[in-house]
Amino acid sequence: MVVRTRFAPSPTGYLHIGSARTALFSYLYARHHGGVFILRVEDTDRERSTPESIEAIIEAMRWLQLEWDEGPFYQSKRWDLYREHAERLLRAGHAYRCYCTAELLDAKRKAAMVAGRKPMYDRTCRSSTARSDGPFTIRFKAPLDGETNIPDLVKGPVVVQNQELDDLVLVRSDGIPTYNFCAVVDDALMQVTHIIRGEDHLANTPKQIQLYRAFGYPMPAFAHIPLILGLDRARLSKRHGATSVTAYRDLGYLPDALINYLARLGWSYGDQEIFTRGELIEKFSLETVGKSAGVYNPEKLEWVNFQHLKAMPAAALAQAVKPFIAARGWPIPGDDTWLAGAVATLRERAKTLVELADSARFYLCDDVELEAKAAAKHLQPATAAPLRDLAGELAGLSQWNIDGLQQVFNAVMARHSLALGKLAQPVRVALTGGTTSPGIFEVLEVLGKERALARLGRGLEWAVAATGAATAVAARTS
Ligand code: GLU
Repeated sequence: MVVRTRFAPSPTGYLHIGSARTALFSYLYARHHGGVFILRVEDTDRERSTPESIEAIIEAMRWLQLEWDEGPFYQSKRWDLYREHAERLLRAGHAYRCYCTAELLDAKRKAAMVAGRKPMYDRTCRSSTARSDGPFTIRFKAPLDGETNIPDLVKGPVVVQNQELDDLVLVRSDGIPTYNFCAVVDDALMQVTHIIRGEDHLANTPKQIQLYRAFGYPMPAFAHIPLILGLDRARLSKRHGATSVTAYRDLGYLPDALINYLARLGWSYGDQEIFTRGELIEKFSLETVGKSAGVYNPEKLEWVNFQHLKAMPAAALAQAVKPFIAARGWPIPGDDTWLAGAVATLRERAKTLVELADSARFYLCDDVELEAKAAAKHLQPATAAPLRDLAGELAGLSQWNIDGLQQVFNAVMARHSLALGKLAQPVRVALTGGTTSPGIFEVLEVLGKERALARLGRGLEWAVAATGAATAVAARTS
């Protein structure tokens, strides 16, 4: 049997990370089994569905690289199929026309509640043969007794008493088919073998199973995955941080890190935390999807992102950071190899692409502003002489590489009896503007001779000016 799964978003907003995880599990399950992953847009709700939202969902799916093999299918283009299926149920006696008006139904509901009964439809029209010209809904003739079993692959068996279930409206009086009905028709026609979706749909499943039976379609397997909660155990919402997938893209997360994190939020493989996409596909199974809700922890997501950033080849990382550089209005270097070298020196400190881009500023822009405190501390009178010496030696250095740079530093340190820190910190401030940066030799190597010397010259000027100021102060106090 070829495994066929689907993701069926309702396009009423952006792609929420909870829905993205549902999509991911369906995708991973299909890929793991060499199956087919289908994208179906459930846009029957004409008021709430928007083209912008469809666009946003597709964009987010593309960014996450959750490639679908079939679709996107749009329910709004499949009315004929639903109509035909409704007719089929009517003809077979599995459905009936209900002429009860909304007002009447409302009154019935209220009366049932007052009488302490469940607010279910009283099935007046189920046994009536009267036909009317008035508007009608099409209702399912649900079994009145017995039970419906859901052999859920995550939750285990779930049993529902049929008398608890209403005669479901399949087609509304305005002709629009309802979610449960469309979902069954589509899942059956698209030959979906495994319906993987959020636990919030569990209550719909017995109704859908009954519809499958009425149609005589082969029953798919069901897997309901637990919801995602915030650290405070409330359902994940904007209060807990960004909930839209593309917001994470804009915050500088890698798609592979986000899917790694989302996969682990509800699924486990021993105590392994970091997975490549390939490993997720290879190792995913529904058996180790947990039964309890996943708790969303933004710090852990950041950590996972950091691990992926570190593991990514520098060339790919350089490509990934470019949009963030562009967004800051900084020049994108033409030389990809150079940029890869630059980001390779910075990646150990950046948890997101945003942090990586920010930390790359001194490599990209020459208008480095010296942090006042750092300059005051490290570009002092005493630094001027060794800096001048260093600049002179570096100007003559022909092998501009770590070894060559190290030798020059050693010679200057020896001549001025300085430990590395005493020379490296002033150089660092001159080159980067601040006191934290990658290793000084790496920074020098990446900046290249010309830019490094220009910045050292400026640092030297600063130290000399400080010397002047110090002399003035000394003169005044003596
Ligand atoms: N359109 C439904 C939703 O977005 C899909 C439910 C399902 O997967 O059956 O929640």
